[in-house]
Amino acid sequence: MKIWYHTLGCKVNQYETEKLRIALEKAGYHTAEDGAPFDIGIINSCAVTETAVAKTRAAVRKARETSPGAFIIAAGCAAGFCGGLPCDLAVPPEEKDGIPELVKQRFPVAEGPLSPALRERTRAVVKIQDGCSQFCSYCIIPYLRNRFSSADPAEVVEEVQALCRNGFCEIVLTGIRLGSYRAGGVSLEGLTELLLEKTDIRRIRLSSVEAWEITPGLVGLLSDSRMAKHLHIPLQSGSARVLKAMNRPYTPEEYESLIQNVRKQVPGIGVTTDVIAGFPGETEELFEEGLRFIEKTGFSRMHIFPFSPRRGTRAWDMPGQVDRQVKKERAARLRGLAAEMQQRFADLNTGVPQEAIFENTDKNGFLRGYTSNYLEILTKRECPVNTPVTVTCREAKNGALIW
Ligand code: SF4
Repeated sequence: MKIWYHTLGCKVNQYETEKLRIALEKAGYHTAEDGAPFDIGIINSCAVTETAVAKTRAAVRKARETSPGAFIIAAGCAAGFCGGLPCDLAVPPEEKDGIPELVKQRFPVAEGPLSPALRERTRAVVKIQDGCSQFCSYCIIPYLRNRFSSADPAEVVEEVQALCRNGFCEIVLTGIRLGSYRAGGVSLEGLTELLLEKTDIRRIRLSSVEAWEITPGLVGLLSDSRMAKHLHIPLQSGSARVLKAMNRPYTPEEYESLIQNVRKQVPGIGVTTDVIAGFPGETEELFEEGLRFIEKTGFSRMHIFPFSPRRGTRAWDMPGQVDRQVKKERAARLRGLAAEMQQRFADLNTGVPQEAIFENTDKNGFLRGYTSNYLEILTKRECPVNTPVTVTCREAKNGALIW
């Protein structure tokens, strides 16, 4: 019996799909390659934007075309929130863990357990937290995943030790709101310390931490040579008025002073962020104000999202909705600025020794990987993958270091 897996959305979803795949391979179900026929399709969906929901629908339709007789399960946020997906079964996020049992009951196999194949041996996502109740006014997540849960620290240590034994070099700690991790009195900072102390993992990266959850202790830990010199801190807007309307609990000034402090304590750190373009009420003036703030603060990478209204959130029918074309233009300006800043950061890192871990070869024959401070690095030299190497690059192109 063959199962095809498809993931949309965030790192948490990637982790959860991987967990499903491993559980089902252990139970004797083979994994179908992309494009090959299968008996069961599991689509781990996303509902963060309208586009994500549209992609989920398209993935379900494509699954039907590839294997018309297959049983299609749509799991996750879009399955929980958007009715009418053309699937056989919709499983909301909080019931995803039950999928292996459900598959075993409906489609029993006689085969013995298979040993799960490890996909990528370089960077592994480790989900340690779920749930958010911040209710940022644009975000659907608190309606879909509002139950907080944090993984047991001893189990996380065990999982990371197993990943080390299986040859992984880097882990990315992830969660819906990673900074709110708390299990039996252990915070994100405490868990990171535990992992540094009790495992041999070479590099620990934090996926995304909200500005108000970054503690001095956590920043202090980033000086450890095994911590990735990288923080992803969602900004969303550089305008105080827009931030307030978004229900984000900080001002641009507070955000800026946090970044200054982080840069002072961790020289060379890469700070990346997310920004929404065209939030309701974002006038031309407020957009310009935000743009100036972003330029002044400087980021080594930015993810830009044109505002996508989600039914059920407060921003859905807020006054001052921005015209679609204007949102597109603002997003394009932000992307232009992001590319310039990324190149500036890459230039700054030329001539400086970097610890790089190469992962795979791209379609142009370049070996590619990432530095500790999350710059992409490309080379045509002979170099081992999945092994930290110290390199000094003389050139930076399109925001990446060339070695
Ligand atoms: S912090 Fe805000 S944006 Fe992030 S998941 Fe929670 S509600 Fe959504």
